[in-house]
Amino acid sequence: MPNLAEDVRFIRMLRDAHVLVDVVGHKLDAPNGVIPVVCPDCDQAADIDGHVHRILDESGGKVRLHSLKQHGGGMLISEACPLDREYNIDRYLLKHIGIARNLKDINTIILFVHAPCGAAQLEGLNVVEVLYHVVEAKKRVKARWPKDRISCYIHVDYANEKKRTYFLSRVAFEQWFRENNGEQYVKHMNKKNGSDSDQKIEFEPTTPATS
Ligand SMILES: [Zn+2]
Repeated sequence: MPNLAEDVRFIRMLRDAHVLVDVVGHKLDAPNGVIPVVCPDCDQAADIDGHVHRILDESGGKVRLHSLKQHGGGMLISEACPLDREYNIDRYLLKHIGIARNLKDINTIILFVHAPCGAAQLEGLNVVEVLYHVVEAKKRVKARWPKDRISCYIHVDYANEKKRTYFLSRVAFEQWFRENNGEQYVKHMNKKNGSDSDQKIEFEPTTPATS
């Protein structure tokens, strides 16, 4: 399953606009490891995990990956992302990020998407939509845990053995989106601009109420 021609064009455009930038120079602040939210794609997993290892190595932090793997990866946390809506996958992942943070004392979360992603293609999502949702996911996770470090990446398999991981700049993406009428590419927009309407995710440890 190759990248669609349209997606290759989008990726080139977003590289030119410095929305997708080389990971080199973007040192991750991850002193105690990371919680990656990532698609499990078996043909890409080794390469994606290898890239995360390298990013962690460069950051000088501990190489600890407490990965949460669901088809589609980090974009699933966007409230408007159409994948697995019927299972409340966004709330499920937020709950498990909360558990992982508490169990493993990790405060760096990385939201990974990739292209071509079979799960995204099954749902008819182009690369711009995938990036839109992962940016919305970042805002939602950040709203919930404001002191945590949240970073987004996209892994691209260009075929012919060429695979790359890019850092996704939220600021650059949102500027590009505004200037290029990005709404035209996105079928499922968030109404609340990434804000987290959930007051409480079930089963997340909370301070016991006193009576
Ligand atoms: Zn995938």
